[in-house]
Amino acid sequence: MTQRYPDFIWHNGDIKRWQDATVHVMAHGLHYGSSVFEGIRSYDTPNGAKIFRLTDHTRRLFASAKIYEMPIPYTVEQLNQACRDVVKANGFGQCYLRPIAYRDLGGFGLSADCPTSVAVATWDMGRYLGADVIERGIDACVSSWQRFAPNTLPAGAKAGGNYLSGQLVAREARRLGFGEGIALASTGLLSEGAGENLFLVFEGALHTPPVSAALLNGITRDTIIKLAKDNGIAVVERDIPREYLYLCDELFMCGTAAEITPIRSVDGREVGTGKPGPLTKKIQDLFFGLFSGETADKYGWLE
Ligand code: PMP
Repeated sequence: MTQRYPDFIWHNGDIKRWQDATVHVMAHGLHYGSSVFEGIRSYDTPNGAKIFRLTDHTRRLFASAKIYEMPIPYTVEQLNQACRDVVKANGFGQCYLRPIAYRDLGGFGLSADCPTSVAVATWDMGRYLGADVIERGIDACVSSWQRFAPNTLPAGAKAGGNYLSGQLVAREARRLGFGEGIALASTGLLSEGAGENLFLVFEGALHTPPVSAALLNGITRDTIIKLAKDNGIAVVERDIPREYLYLCDELFMCGTAAEITPIRSVDGREVGTGKPGPLTKKIQDLFFGLFSGETADKYGWLE
Protein backbone atom coordinates (compact mmCIF):
# COMPACT_ATOMS: atom_id res chain seq x y z
CA MET A 1 0.00 0.00 0.00
CA THR A 2 1.43 3.40 -0.88
CA GLN A 3 0.91 5.83 1.96
CA ARG A 4 0.27 9.48 1.32
CA TYR A 5 2.08 11.27 4.12
CA PRO A 6 0.62 14.44 5.62
CA ASP A 7 2.18 17.83 4.88
CA PHE A 8 2.08 18.89 8.54
CA ILE A 9 2.53 17.19 11.93
CA TRP A 10 2.00 18.68 15.38
CA HIS A 11 5.14 17.98 17.42
CA ASN A 12 5.87 19.21 20.96
CA GLY A 13 3.64 22.25 20.65
CA ASP A 14 4.32 23.32 17.06
CA ILE A 15 2.90 22.47 13.66
CA LYS A 16 5.93 21.31 11.68
CA ARG A 17 6.48 20.32 8.09
CA TRP A 18 6.40 16.54 7.68
CA GLN A 19 10.15 16.30 7.06
CA ASP A 20 10.97 18.31 10.20
CA ALA A 21 8.98 16.18 12.69
CA THR A 22 11.84 13.80 13.54
CA VAL A 23 13.07 11.68 16.49
CA HIS A 24 16.66 10.94 17.52
CA VAL A 25 17.85 7.35 16.93
CA MET A 26 18.72 7.07 20.62
CA ALA A 27 15.22 8.01 21.84
CA HIS A 28 14.12 5.62 24.61
CA GLY A 29 10.79 4.90 22.91
CA LEU A 30 12.47 3.58 19.78
CA HIS A 31 14.61 1.09 21.70
CA TYR A 32 12.19 -0.16 24.30
CA GLY A 33 8.70 0.33 22.85
CA SER A 34 8.06 3.04 25.45
CA SER A 35 5.36 4.99 23.68
CA VAL A 36 1.62 5.27 24.09
CA PHE A 37 -0.63 6.25 21.24
CA GLU A 38 -4.14 6.60 19.89
CA GLY A 39 -5.96 6.04 16.62
CA ILE A 40 -8.88 8.36 15.97
CA ARG A 41 -11.07 9.05 12.93
CA SER A 42 -12.46 12.29 11.65
CA TYR A 43 -15.57 11.95 9.47
CA ASP A 44 -17.30 14.27 7.02
CA THR A 45 -20.80 14.82 8.37
CA PRO A 46 -23.71 17.04 7.27
CA ASN A 47 -22.42 19.51 9.90
CA GLY A 48 -18.81 19.52 8.63
CA ALA A 49 -15.80 17.44 9.67
CA LYS A 50 -16.19 15.90 13.15
CA ILE A 51 -13.60 14.00 15.17
CA PHE A 52 -15.27 10.91 16.63
CA ARG A 53 -15.03 10.65 20.43
CA LEU A 54 -11.90 12.82 20.47
CA THR A 55 -11.97 13.49 24.21
CA ASP A 56 -12.45 9.80 25.03
CA HIS A 57 -9.44 8.92 22.90
CA THR A 58 -7.30 11.66 24.46
CA ARG A 59 -8.33 10.47 27.92
CA ARG A 60 -7.30 6.93 27.03
CA LEU A 61 -3.91 8.27 25.90
CA PHE A 62 -3.46 9.81 29.37
CA ALA A 63 -4.61 6.57 30.98
CA SER A 64 -2.04 4.55 29.00
CA ALA A 65 0.65 7.08 29.98
CA LYS A 66 -0.36 6.84 33.64
CA ILE A 67 0.10 3.07 33.65
CA TYR A 68 3.66 3.54 32.37
CA GLU A 69 4.44 6.57 34.62
CA MET A 70 4.99 8.74 31.57
CA PRO A 71 4.13 12.36 32.37
CA ILE A 72 2.47 14.15 29.44
CA PRO A 73 3.35 17.86 29.57
CA TYR A 74 -0.02 18.99 28.14
CA THR A 75 -3.64 18.94 29.20
CA VAL A 76 -6.40 16.87 27.57
CA GLU A 77 -7.78 20.07 26.05
CA GLN A 78 -4.37 21.09 24.66
CA LEU A 79 -4.01 17.73 22.90
CA ASN A 80 -7.60 17.92 21.65
CA GLN A 81 -6.72 21.29 20.17
CA ALA A 82 -3.53 19.86 18.64
CA CYS A 83 -5.71 17.24 16.90
CA ARG A 84 -8.06 19.88 15.53
CA ASP A 85 -5.15 22.08 14.43
CA VAL A 86 -3.33 19.33 12.58
CA VAL A 87 -6.48 18.26 10.69
CA LYS A 88 -7.04 21.86 9.65
CA ALA A 89 -3.39 22.45 8.74
CA ASN A 90 -3.51 19.49 6.35
CA GLY A 91 -6.86 20.56 4.90
CA PHE A 92 -8.43 17.17 5.74
CA GLY A 93 -12.09 16.39 6.44
CA GLN A 94 -12.26 12.62 6.65
CA CYS A 95 -8.96 11.26 7.99
CA TYR A 96 -7.22 9.16 10.64
CA LEU A 97 -5.38 10.83 13.53
CA ARG A 98 -2.42 9.40 15.39
CA PRO A 99 -1.45 11.11 18.66
CA ILE A 100 1.65 9.54 20.19
CA ALA A 101 3.60 10.25 23.40
CA TYR A 102 7.03 8.67 23.79
CA ARG A 103 10.00 8.66 26.10
CA ASP A 104 12.48 10.81 24.25
CA LEU A 105 16.25 11.20 24.47
CA GLY A 106 17.35 11.32 28.13
CA GLY A 107 18.96 8.09 29.26
CA PHE A 108 19.46 4.48 28.33
CA GLY A 109 18.43 2.76 31.55
CA LEU A 110 15.04 1.08 31.57
CA SER A 111 13.94 3.27 34.47
CA ALA A 112 15.45 6.50 33.06
CA ASP A 113 13.28 9.58 33.57
CA CYS A 114 13.30 10.69 29.95
CA PRO A 115 11.25 13.70 28.89
CA THR A 116 8.01 12.80 27.16
CA SER A 117 7.61 14.09 23.62
CA VAL A 118 4.22 14.24 21.97
CA ALA A 119 3.20 14.30 18.33
CA VAL A 120 -0.06 14.21 16.41
CA ALA A 121 -0.01 13.03 12.82
CA THR A 122 -2.93 12.53 10.49
CA TRP A 123 -3.42 10.77 7.18
CA ASP A 124 -6.03 9.67 4.73
CA MET A 125 -6.60 6.04 5.72
CA GLY A 126 -9.68 4.83 3.84
CA ARG A 127 -10.71 1.25 4.65
CA TYR A 128 -8.08 -0.36 6.92
CA LEU A 129 -8.69 -4.02 5.96
CA GLY A 130 -9.38 -3.45 2.25
CA ALA A 131 -11.73 -1.61 -0.12
CA ASP A 132 -15.02 -3.51 0.08
CA VAL A 133 -14.63 -5.52 3.30
CA ILE A 134 -17.31 -3.53 5.11
CA GLU A 135 -19.85 -5.02 2.68
CA ARG A 136 -18.30 -8.42 1.91
CA GLY A 137 -16.53 -9.33 5.13
CA ILE A 138 -13.16 -11.00 5.58
CA ASP A 139 -11.81 -14.49 6.15
CA ALA A 140 -10.03 -14.72 9.49
CA CYS A 141 -7.90 -17.30 11.28
CA VAL A 142 -7.04 -18.00 14.91
CA SER A 143 -3.41 -17.12 15.41
CA SER A 144 -0.76 -19.48 16.71
CA TRP A 145 0.35 -16.49 18.84
CA GLN A 146 -1.50 -15.78 22.08
CA ARG A 147 -2.06 -12.39 23.67
CA PHE A 148 0.15 -11.56 26.67
CA ALA A 149 -0.88 -13.01 30.02
CA PRO A 150 -2.32 -10.80 32.80
CA ASN A 151 0.36 -9.10 34.88
CA THR A 152 2.91 -9.31 32.06
CA LEU A 153 2.09 -6.43 29.71
CA PRO A 154 -1.05 -4.45 30.53
CA ALA A 155 -3.48 -4.97 27.63
CA GLY A 156 -5.49 -2.00 28.84
CA ALA A 157 -2.69 0.38 27.87
CA LYS A 158 -2.40 1.27 24.20
CA ALA A 159 1.39 1.14 24.27
CA GLY A 160 3.78 0.84 21.34
CA GLY A 161 5.38 -2.33 22.71
CA ASN A 162 2.04 -4.16 22.79
CA TYR A 163 1.91 -3.97 19.03
CA LEU A 164 4.77 -6.43 18.65
CA SER A 165 2.13 -8.98 19.64
CA GLY A 166 -0.32 -7.49 17.13
CA GLN A 167 2.31 -7.60 14.38
CA LEU A 168 2.93 -11.32 14.95
CA VAL A 169 -0.80 -12.03 14.75
CA ALA A 170 -1.46 -9.81 11.71
CA ARG A 171 1.62 -10.89 9.75
CA GLU A 172 0.98 -14.58 10.30
CA ALA A 173 -2.61 -14.12 9.08
CA ARG A 174 -1.46 -12.24 6.00
CA ARG A 175 1.24 -14.83 5.21
CA LEU A 176 -1.38 -17.58 5.34
CA GLY A 177 -3.71 -15.62 3.05
CA PHE A 178 -6.28 -14.46 5.65
CA GLY A 179 -7.71 -10.96 6.02
CA GLU A 180 -6.98 -10.74 9.76
CA GLY A 181 -5.83 -12.84 12.72
CA ILE A 182 -7.72 -13.47 15.97
CA ALA A 183 -5.75 -14.10 19.17
CA LEU A 184 -6.66 -16.21 22.16
CA ALA A 185 -5.75 -15.07 25.67
CA SER A 186 -3.26 -17.05 27.79
CA THR A 187 -6.33 -18.77 29.27
CA GLY A 188 -7.04 -20.26 25.85
CA LEU A 189 -10.27 -18.26 25.65
CA LEU A 190 -11.07 -15.63 23.00
CA SER A 191 -9.35 -12.29 23.27
CA GLU A 192 -9.41 -10.01 20.21
CA GLY A 193 -8.12 -9.40 16.70
CA ALA A 194 -4.66 -8.04 15.97
CA GLY A 195 -6.05 -4.51 16.23
CA GLU A 196 -9.78 -4.99 16.69
CA ASN A 197 -12.31 -6.17 19.27
CA LEU A 198 -14.74 -9.01 18.50
CA PHE A 199 -18.50 -9.45 18.65
CA LEU A 200 -20.32 -12.77 18.11
CA VAL A 201 -24.06 -13.02 17.51
CA PHE A 202 -26.11 -15.78 19.10
CA GLU A 203 -29.90 -15.78 18.75
CA GLY A 204 -30.13 -12.03 18.21
CA ALA A 205 -27.82 -11.02 21.08
CA LEU A 206 -24.27 -9.65 20.91
CA HIS A 207 -21.59 -11.51 22.86
CA THR A 208 -18.11 -10.07 23.40
CA PRO A 209 -15.13 -11.11 25.55
CA PRO A 210 -14.64 -9.09 28.78
CA VAL A 211 -11.74 -6.66 29.29
CA SER A 212 -10.12 -9.29 31.53
CA ALA A 213 -9.47 -11.34 28.34
CA ALA A 214 -6.23 -9.41 27.61
CA LEU A 215 -7.84 -6.96 25.23
CA LEU A 216 -7.82 -3.25 24.62
CA ASN A 217 -11.02 -1.70 25.93
CA GLY A 218 -11.96 -0.31 22.53
CA ILE A 219 -13.88 2.89 22.07
CA THR A 220 -15.68 1.39 19.05
CA ARG A 221 -16.57 -1.62 21.25
CA ASP A 222 -18.05 0.78 23.81
CA THR A 223 -19.89 2.66 21.04
CA ILE A 224 -21.45 -0.59 19.79
CA ILE A 225 -22.47 -1.68 23.31
CA LYS A 226 -24.23 1.66 23.89
CA LEU A 227 -25.89 1.77 20.44
CA ALA A 228 -27.08 -1.83 20.80
CA LYS A 229 -28.54 -1.33 24.28
CA ASP A 230 -30.26 1.90 23.18
CA ASN A 231 -31.90 -0.06 20.36
CA GLY A 232 -33.11 -2.98 22.46
CA ILE A 233 -30.34 -5.40 21.42
CA ALA A 234 -28.96 -7.48 24.31
CA VAL A 235 -25.20 -7.38 24.92
CA VAL A 236 -23.42 -10.06 26.96
CA GLU A 237 -19.77 -9.67 28.07
CA ARG A 238 -18.51 -13.17 28.87
CA ASP A 239 -15.66 -15.61 28.43
CA ILE A 240 -15.95 -17.29 25.04
CA PRO A 241 -14.18 -20.53 24.02
CA ARG A 242 -12.57 -20.65 20.58
CA GLU A 243 -15.04 -23.07 18.97
CA TYR A 244 -17.89 -20.60 19.33
CA LEU A 245 -16.24 -18.61 16.53
CA TYR A 246 -17.32 -21.48 14.27
CA LEU A 247 -20.78 -21.88 15.82
CA CYS A 248 -22.08 -18.33 16.13
CA ASP A 249 -24.74 -16.94 13.76
CA GLU A 250 -22.70 -13.85 12.89
CA LEU A 251 -19.27 -12.44 13.74
CA PHE A 252 -17.64 -9.06 13.27
CA MET A 253 -14.56 -7.08 14.30
CA CYS A 254 -14.54 -3.47 15.33
CA GLY A 255 -12.03 -0.72 15.88
CA THR A 256 -11.29 2.82 14.84
CA ALA A 257 -9.30 1.68 11.81
CA ALA A 258 -11.39 -1.42 10.94
CA GLU A 259 -14.70 0.32 11.81
CA ILE A 260 -17.20 -2.58 11.68
CA THR A 261 -15.89 -5.41 9.54
CA PRO A 262 -17.93 -8.62 9.15
CA ILE A 263 -16.06 -11.94 9.36
CA ARG A 264 -17.44 -14.51 6.94
CA SER A 265 -15.20 -17.43 7.87
CA VAL A 266 -12.79 -18.51 10.61
CA ASP A 267 -10.14 -21.17 10.01
CA GLY A 268 -11.90 -22.17 6.80
CA ARG A 269 -15.30 -22.70 8.47
CA GLU A 270 -18.14 -20.48 7.26
CA VAL A 271 -19.71 -18.22 9.89
CA GLY A 272 -23.53 -18.51 9.63
CA THR A 273 -24.46 -18.24 5.96
CA GLY A 274 -20.95 -17.08 5.02
CA LYS A 275 -22.32 -13.59 4.34
CA PRO A 276 -22.65 -10.58 6.67
CA GLY A 277 -25.82 -11.17 8.70
CA PRO A 278 -28.76 -8.93 9.64
CA LEU A 279 -27.58 -7.91 13.11
CA THR A 280 -24.12 -7.03 11.79
CA LYS A 281 -25.82 -4.92 9.13
CA LYS A 282 -28.03 -3.26 11.75
CA ILE A 283 -25.01 -2.35 13.91
CA GLN A 284 -23.17 -1.03 10.84
CA ASP A 285 -26.19 1.13 9.95
CA LEU A 286 -26.42 2.52 13.49
CA PHE A 287 -22.66 3.19 13.58
CA PHE A 288 -22.26 4.76 10.13
CA GLY A 289 -25.57 6.55 10.71
CA LEU A 290 -23.78 8.66 13.33
CA PHE A 291 -21.80 10.26 10.49
CA SER A 292 -24.62 10.57 7.93
CA GLY A 293 -26.95 12.04 10.56
CA GLU A 294 -29.36 9.07 10.56
CA THR A 295 -28.34 7.99 14.08
CA ALA A 296 -28.88 10.66 16.74
CA ASP A 297 -25.61 11.70 18.43
CA LYS A 298 -27.16 11.55 21.89
CA TYR A 299 -23.82 11.21 23.72
CA GLY A 300 -22.11 14.15 21.97
CA TRP A 301 -19.56 11.88 20.30
CA LEU A 302 -19.12 14.05 17.19
CA GLU A 303 -16.63 16.65 18.38
N1 PMP B 1 -7.73 -3.85 20.16
C1 PMP B 1 -6.54 -3.45 19.72
C2 PMP B 1 -5.34 -4.30 20.02
C3 PMP B 1 -6.41 -2.27 19.00
O1 PMP B 1 -5.23 -1.87 18.54
C4 PMP B 1 -7.57 -1.52 18.71
C5 PMP B 1 -7.47 -0.27 17.89
N2 PMP B 1 -7.07 0.81 18.66
C6 PMP B 1 -8.79 -1.96 19.20
C7 PMP B 1 -8.84 -3.13 19.92
C8 PMP B 1 -10.04 -1.18 18.98
O2 PMP B 1 -10.00 0.00 19.76
P1 PMP B 1 -10.75 1.31 19.33
O3 PMP B 1 -12.14 0.94 19.02
O4 PMP B 1 -10.65 2.21 20.51
O5 PMP B 1 -10.05 1.85 18.13
